[in-house]
Amino acid sequence: MHTARMTRTRFGTAFARSDFGRLTAALVLAVAIGVVSLPWLERHFLAKTGVQGMDTLNLSVAGLRSALNRFEPLPALIAERPELARLLRNPANPLLFAQVNARLKETADRLEASDVYLMDKRGMTLAASSYLKDLSFVGKSFDYRPYFTESLAGLPSRYFALGTTSGERGYFYAAPVWEDAQVVGVLALKFTVDGFEDAWRSGPSELMVTDANGVVFMSSRQDWHFRTLAPLSADALEGIQRTRQYPPARLKPLAINSEPLNDRLTRVTATSDTRTEHFVESQTLLPDVGWRVHILSPAGPARTQALAVFGVYVMLVLLIGLALALVLSRRARILERLEVQRATQDLLERRVRERTADLNVANASLRTEVEERRSAEHRLRITQKELIQAGKLAALGQLSAAISHEINQPLAAVKSYADNAALLMDRERLPEARENLTRISKLADRIAAISGHLRNFARRPQEGIAAVDAAAVIDDAIELLGAKIKSRGAQIKFDRPAAPLFAMGGQLRLQQVMVNLLANALDATEDKDQPHIAVALSNENDIIKITVTDSGPGLSEAALAQVFDPFFTTKEPGKGLGLGLSISFNIVEDFGGHLRARNLDQGGAEFSVELPAAAPQGIAAQ
Ligand code: ADP
Repeated sequence: MHTARMTRTRFGTAFARSDFGRLTAALVLAVAIGVVSLPWLERHFLAKTGVQGMDTLNLSVAGLRSALNRFEPLPALIAERPELARLLRNPANPLLFAQVNARLKETADRLEASDVYLMDKRGMTLAASSYLKDLSFVGKSFDYRPYFTESLAGLPSRYFALGTTSGERGYFYAAPVWEDAQVVGVLALKFTVDGFEDAWRSGPSELMVTDANGVVFMSSRQDWHFRTLAPLSADALEGIQRTRQYPPARLKPLAINSEPLNDRLTRVTATSDTRTEHFVESQTLLPDVGWRVHILSPAGPARTQALAVFGVYVMLVLLIGLALALVLSRRARILERLEVQRATQDLLERRVRERTADLNVANASLRTEVEERRSAEHRLRITQKELIQAGKLAALGQLSAAISHEINQPLAAVKSYADNAALLMDRERLPEARENLTRISKLADRIAAISGHLRNFARRPQEGIAAVDAAAVIDDAIELLGAKIKSRGAQIKFDRPAAPLFAMGGQLRLQQVMVNLLANALDATEDKDQPHIAVALSNENDIIKITVTDSGPGLSEAALAQVFDPFFTTKEPGKGLGLGLSISFNIVEDFGGHLRARNLDQGGAEFSVELPAAAPQGIAAQ
């Protein structure tokens, strides 16, 4: 039983363990999925960053474009001023020179342009807004600049370059100065781009503008200025040198590595001597100027976000795992408890079955025993009845000697009275003969009485239990034992009560008991010279009590213990059967009474019969 329980419990634990194994595998799988999807997550956030960058890019491009558009028509308008043509015609006129310089300065200030200046047909600057500055344009020749040559040819033009005089990067617009349908000079306007770059630096992203050759000429990062995205072709390099557009020494390629993120975005890794940076790049083209504006948003925050989401995911997975583990362990505990309960129940049921089987066996054996007892009792009763009968016969044997003695005596007397009567009748002494005959008749009566007793004694009792006159029964018993009493020379003292006492019993059987007790008393006092035997009769609280006391030796301890047992006798073989008291005991018990034996203090034995007193109506029925 215990083993079965253990096995079941172990089975439950194994079941729970496989559950936990599955849970752990699921958790590991979930975390692995998270790890695998981390690059995808990073790309997602990079794309988001890129899209935000595109918004910023659009705003920046709009600002740049509006600035470009704002300045575009201005050189042509300014070039229409008549004093410009006049100065071109009279370059040595100091008054005019001063006036034009002042006007140009005023214009530059108002337009917030860095420079406004006038060149003659050789490219020599005649007047400039910077006329007061140390690095004044006045007297400088810009014949190598494309915007000059283009405008001299009669076209408005624009150009981006590093200022050779100022050393500032700027955007140049130029327009021809006309007089009489002839180009007489060129008016140029320059604005610097530092303001844009300052604005760009305030954001988290880096911005740069590249020209058609891929040279970075504007950028929020100073160290990227004049760097190239790819090595320059020989032609391009020659053009730049010729027009002195950028300082050739600084035209070095940027260490940039690009890979596409999607169709609009690129992942960019920029490596410098000091660090490596990661960006998401998007770009847009300004077709009219041939510029490309790039925005590079740092990839760091997107990566952090991806890692944060991954972290939250892992935490959620672990939390769910923990919750599931708790649920599983609870379930396992409940299962185990149920198994233990089931095992205990099985054990109980089995024990109950075993006990029931034991009880059934015990019941069956009890039933058999009861049956055996019952049949033994039945056999005992039959035996007892037979013994009672045997006892009677034994008593009859004892009595027969006395009876024959009793009968022989009157018979002898009858014979002699009859002989005498015959002689007296022969002698005609009739009165005497009559007297003899009367005596014969009395003797015949006596013989009839003795044989009547004998018949009663030998007959099996058919009588029931009724009210019996106790004193009469005692008298009968004494009379039955008359011969024996006489031969012993004994006396039986009977204290007869004043009124008759009625007990419940059978007359003949009670008489048999009394004969037995008195005969035993006679036997016990056999050796005494003056034997005393007394019979007492009384009513104590509706118990009729008959006591037979004698002056014999009394009963030994052993005899007292078994005096009522069948075949217990101390008498010589042939004299006693040891049945008298046993039969008497049963008879009295049958009447609902008791037969007791004890020793008297003064010596001798006392046997007492206690019987229920008969009710008055029982007596009336007699
Ligand atoms: P039996 O008389 O055939 O022996 P009983 O059953 O009548 O059988 O008596 C059994 C025994 O009880 C006797 O043998 C005797 O030893 C003892 N006993 C009976 N009555 C007396 C008595 N009055 N005094 C002493 N012993 C007695």
